[in-house]
Amino acid sequence: MIHLTSDAAIMFGLALVSAMLSCGLLLSWKVLGGVRHALIWAIAYGIGAVQWFVIGAYNSFWPFTSAAFIGATWAGGIVAILLCVGFRERVGMPRRPRLMIAAAAISGLLIAVPYLINGAAFTLAIPQFMRVIFLPVAALTLVGFGRRATMVEIVTAAILLAFAGFSGFVGWMRLIDCGCETNSGRAVLLIGLPVLFTGAGLTNILLLASDLAQQLRRTARVDPLTEALNRRGFDETAERALAQARRRERPMSVLLFDLDHFKAINDAFSHADGDRVLHAVAQCVRRESRAEDAFGRLGGEEFALLLDNMAPLAAVAMAERIRAAIGMLSVLPDGCRVTASFGVAPVFSNQTLADSLRHADLALYRAKEAGRDRTILYAEPDVARPGEGAVSRTNRRQGVAADA
Ligand code: GH3
Ligand code: MG
Ligand code: MG
Repeated sequence: MIHLTSDAAIMFGLALVSAMLSCGLLLSWKVLGGVRHALIWAIAYGIGAVQWFVIGAYNSFWPFTSAAFIGATWAGGIVAILLCVGFRERVGMPRRPRLMIAAAAISGLLIAVPYLINGAAFTLAIPQFMRVIFLPVAALTLVGFGRRATMVEIVTAAILLAFAGFSGFVGWMRLIDCGCETNSGRAVLLIGLPVLFTGAGLTNILLLASDLAQQLRRTARVDPLTEALNRRGFDETAERALAQARRRERPMSVLLFDLDHFKAINDAFSHADGDRVLHAVAQCVRRESRAEDAFGRLGGEEFALLLDNMAPLAAVAMAERIRAAIGMLSVLPDGCRVTASFGVAPVFSNQTLADSLRHADLALYRAKEAGRDRTILYAEPDVARPGEGAVSRTNRRQGVAADA
């Protein structure tokens, strides 16, 4: 009859948890359209399931063999390497396969050689130290390199670091051959290991779910052709920025522009050429504006830029820089130039975003009327002569329009 020790029961439990995590990750890989890191993690937990099963088996019914010992011990390190590769893949960092294979080979030698020579049990420390190396590297992809981490990323990194710290402690006990066999040492090992291993696996799945949610939110707010915010995304972002600017009493301006004779560009070339123009124009705007400015595509070939902490005249200067950059584009065949007309308006604290956009639109309309390829700054209508048009006074009297 099989005598199932408590150690073996825990190892079989871990094997089942690991197999379930592997299945969950495989399913995520399929459902999320082939996200490669989900597959890498699924393989890692699949190997983990076999590893825990083998360890459980030879703790209970399987005749102990060197090959099983070395294989299962080595697999522990391989799991850590694969988890790390998956985390690097997730953020688009190089996988460094040669380095990973070298680490796997060295760890294999460090386990097999001393064990085969004199059956040294300290080789059990090697997978622990592999976790000490690779889990913090994985955690760094979540919270390092100046990225703004999400809550789920922070929690995942914390669990990975806790797992690495725990593994370092267990590895050290294994290395000096003390503690692991005492009651308190076994309690630390048998409670800590399942908790941290399962916790790490769950956060992997949570991370995939939160990445998907973020991607969906992004898709709902971003225009796929230009990667600028769409109308909805622009309105949401702009309202937030506006509320902040009001609290801090900072000036703000809004800039609206529309490509000139874009229909003719589509007709003369092709719709695909028109699309390339839109994409290139959006890139120009991103180059010339600041990261904190909300940039949106409000309609077909009409864009808006909300300029935080910028007075209207500075906004006109920025519009002029963008206009010049658009004029330099060479996306169309035969050296055909692309031009755009700009309307700029201040955003006053007692106005709504819609008011400011309407003012910028009036200025833009005026720029079109005046011959296109120019920037016009909105000015309040002259109350003494109502009905003269919203942008008339400043343009006529002061020549604020930066004519081409
Ligand atoms: P104006 O100088 O007065 O702005 O003239 P326009 O031709 O640019 O303005 P109009 O509104 O007549 O035409 C806009 C054109 O933009 C019509 C439409 O086919 C084109 N358009 C809208 N969205 C897209 C798009 O996503 N891709 C391409 N290629 N064209 C688009
Ligand atoms: Mg147009
Ligand atoms: Mg238009």
